[in-house]
Amino acid sequence: MTVDPRPKASHFIAGRPVEDAAGDPIPVIYPATGEEIARVHGATPDLVEAAIASARAAQEDWAARPGVERGRVLRRAADIMRERNRELSELETLDTGKPLQETLVADATSGADALEYFGGLAGALTGEHIPLGQDWAYTVREPLGLCVGIGAWNYPTQIACWKAAPALACGNAMVFKPSETTPLCALKVAEILVEAGLPEGVFNVVQGAGEVGHALVTDPRVAKVSLTGSVPTGRKVYQAAAEGIRHVTMELGGKSPLLVFSDADLENAVGGAILGNFYSTGQVCSNGTRVFVERGIKERFLDRLTERLEGIAMGDPLDEATNFGPMVSARQREIVQGYIAKGQEEGARLVHGGGRPNRPGFWIEPTVFADVTDDMTIAREEIFGPVLSVLDFDGEEEAIRRANATEYGLSAGVFTRDLARAHRVIGRLRAGSCYINSYNDAPVEVPFGGTKASGVGRENSRAAIEHYSQLKSVFVRMGDVEAPY
Ligand code: NDP
Repeated sequence: MTVDPRPKASHFIAGRPVEDAAGDPIPVIYPATGEEIARVHGATPDLVEAAIASARAAQEDWAARPGVERGRVLRRAADIMRERNRELSELETLDTGKPLQETLVADATSGADALEYFGGLAGALTGEHIPLGQDWAYTVREPLGLCVGIGAWNYPTQIACWKAAPALACGNAMVFKPSETTPLCALKVAEILVEAGLPEGVFNVVQGAGEVGHALVTDPRVAKVSLTGSVPTGRKVYQAAAEGIRHVTMELGGKSPLLVFSDADLENAVGGAILGNFYSTGQVCSNGTRVFVERGIKERFLDRLTERLEGIAMGDPLDEATNFGPMVSARQREIVQGYIAKGQEEGARLVHGGGRPNRPGFWIEPTVFADVTDDMTIAREEIFGPVLSVLDFDGEEEAIRRANATEYGLSAGVFTRDLARAHRVIGRLRAGSCYINSYNDAPVEVPFGGTKASGVGRENSRAAIEHYSQLKSVFVRMGDVEAPY
């Protein structure tokens, strides 16, 4: 039997589920069928206030606990998530439409990794001693206070955990707003954290669309905002946060290049392009959607890519044999279809897919375009769907120049057997998260985030600690104060 997707209540505030039916109804649609499977309500201003007040009330006591104690709660939550992986994965599948084959290994498990990793670091967050002759100074790593997390719809469990784990490890409290498209999973994360011993109010979830996010971001009590979303939303949220000089982490969109040189292992390069374009039906921010293939191997690359795409199994996402799901929403499918039409109009060669399977729900075929040029819309704009563009190139210089000619800078990948070249090329690509002979790995130990319009700050790794804490410096004079008068 599949998990019941209906949550106990729409929100999670002060340690318990909270309902307020006065808020705008938000239907939760299962993308594989188009059916409504649950319904939540957007937060009213009173509920936003309650969430902020409960986080504020809880934060200082949480921060005052020893780091190992905070860490123990996070690590216990990680264990619970792993024990309930199947149930959480089914919920993630119902919330997003991503196949269970993926969610079983990529969502609650990745959330648990973050809770475990930052749980382990919580006891090791220290300042330093700075000797200054007979005087000295020390630093204290302090939490920021109340943090707001705002999530996109593609990885609702993972995004909630990637933000909550470092925030809570540092002694902050958080109010998290999931995307209104996928409101269910963050509520489970909140429940599990409390079950693991998190004091009430330290992590709260409120539902709602952009205006609820805006209310949170502009509240004077908020010290930090971490957003995962698109660049246009990022601009708005960054601007609103700037008003109050709040800290920000912005994990935004991309149009990342994946460079395949003619000496690459072709099977691995094709595998990387598949993972970097079709996993999660292409709804991954770091995807390598501009696949630059050195001219000499282009046709072989395309042949092998289209052959391997025959292995796609579209079907019931809850069937573990299915490896390709629907788009998250009707709206997202319309956007992607619009881009496919644009690609054809502007002269790209459609070599695979492009159609809309005749089944209920928001399905779209995995699509490959060849002969794509840099000026085409599909090569410039983020599509956020299963559309791979192959661009040809001749030589390293040209590939680097064209790969960098974008406002984005999230990820970049290189496939080559020449490791000197791999490092040389990656060294010149302007992107935050890069891959050599691989694509889209995101282990919690490694910083993740973008350059240029793709973002500010880093998630995961020790680097995330810098973005959820601040240093207090304390100067200590051991002798007398010598004042001039
Ligand atoms: P959106 O930018 O539309 O929304 C992101 C979140 O911000 C949602 O919860 C949204 O609410 C909320 N929001 C919208 N307007 C405001 C506002 N004015 N103030 C505060 N919050 C607001 O992104 P999508 O949900 O469509 O997600 C897809 C995008 O996310 C892609 O561009 C993708 O590249 C990016 N992304 C980036 C990742 C990264 O780590 N770099 C990872 C995953 C996705 P609601 O939608 O409920 O209205």
